[in-house]
Amino acid sequence: MNPDRRRLLRASAGALLVLAVRPVGAAADASPNVIAVRMWPAEAYTRVTLESDAPLTFKQFLLRNPDRLVVDLEGVELNSELQSLAGKLTAADPNIEKLRAGRFKPGVVRLVIDLKTEVKPQVFTLAPVSDYQHRLVIDLYPAAPADPLLAFLDEQRSPAPTPEPTPVQRPATVARDSLKVDRLVTVVLDPGHGGEDPGAVGPAGNHEKTVVLQIARRLKALLEQESNMRVVMTRDGDYFVPLGTRVRKARAAKADLFVSIHADAFVRPDANGSSVFALSERGATSTAAKWLAQKENEADLIGGVKIDTRDLHLARTLMDLTQTATINDSLKLGKVMLGELGNINRLHKAQVEQAGFAVLKAPDIPSVLVETAFISNPAEERKLVSDDYQQRMANALYQGIKRYFAANPVPPGTKVAQR
Ligand SMILES: [Zn+2]
Repeated sequence: MNPDRRRLLRASAGALLVLAVRPVGAAADASPNVIAVRMWPAEAYTRVTLESDAPLTFKQFLLRNPDRLVVDLEGVELNSELQSLAGKLTAADPNIEKLRAGRFKPGVVRLVIDLKTEVKPQVFTLAPVSDYQHRLVIDLYPAAPADPLLAFLDEQRSPAPTPEPTPVQRPATVARDSLKVDRLVTVVLDPGHGGEDPGAVGPAGNHEKTVVLQIARRLKALLEQESNMRVVMTRDGDYFVPLGTRVRKARAAKADLFVSIHADAFVRPDANGSSVFALSERGATSTAAKWLAQKENEADLIGGVKIDTRDLHLARTLMDLTQTATINDSLKLGKVMLGELGNINRLHKAQVEQAGFAVLKAPDIPSVLVETAFISNPAEERKLVSDDYQQRMANALYQGIKRYFAANPVPPGTKVAQR
């Protein structure tokens, strides 16, 4: 059933019940209750989420010396959930020093967040989606971002610039020799989901976001053994990164390859195997691919992103650009990866599939999305959480990436990272 319709039915059923049991004249209690509080600390930003059974009304203001953010929640009673917030703070939180929730005046709960550094807060609400009810999201971005990507870019900028390379074609006959590249190859690894968005959840309760991060870290370690390879992760922790930001990070790092790592789910528990996807310019190769792309693209709704018109503009621009050459390279990469994955797991589909995944839309970076296995399948879920299988999966992807660069050497010269 359409979720809006279901909610409407549930809401009207509730209203009828209230009318039936309440004495005539008593107003229905419409004030929201906070039903869960969560914190997601990360270097890039810390997120505080308040989930409630009705939309929250709030006011916010920043105070300096010392830096703190105050959020007043209106028409809310202080309850045990709100009081539990202070206990969820860890000393390692890069952005929050201390936080407390208290009754400010009748009907207003005041949240005071003492900050470790100057922040740019974004406070916004999210409508119910997936398993979540109404959410108030407080994102605290450091004013001077300590983003690992920025640190990496600074590193990239510091060496003396290499002289402009003389144009060289890629002679097919000496492809073997050109394995020796004269610049660093940048591979961006993109562990799917994170933070508020768990991705698919296995029957034993394991989260896609966790296993894909573990596999990505193993793959990073393997790639970094290569003297000519650099790895940038779109996230290296349990926090939410919008899909558009993942693409922008890859472009800012001037990535030569983008590999998004996921674990599949299906309603039938016996669905199994690995698959690899590339972007499709027009339409998906199968209805299953289209369905999966829609599901993965929902990450922004579930994880919660403040819609930015610049993102919409960027998305449109990227889609308008001709991506044929990049998609061809993505298909080549996908094909060698499938070859390697076939050695360690059954292939769900023998060919690289194509669909409109938002995260694959960098027009100039060969990009693939790997569904490592089905976390919804009990046997594959057990494999996905095991050290041994994670290492074999990382190794298969590593071999695939090496084979791709062996057959398609990067053009010589320095690709200077930009922001
Ligand atoms: Zn996923």
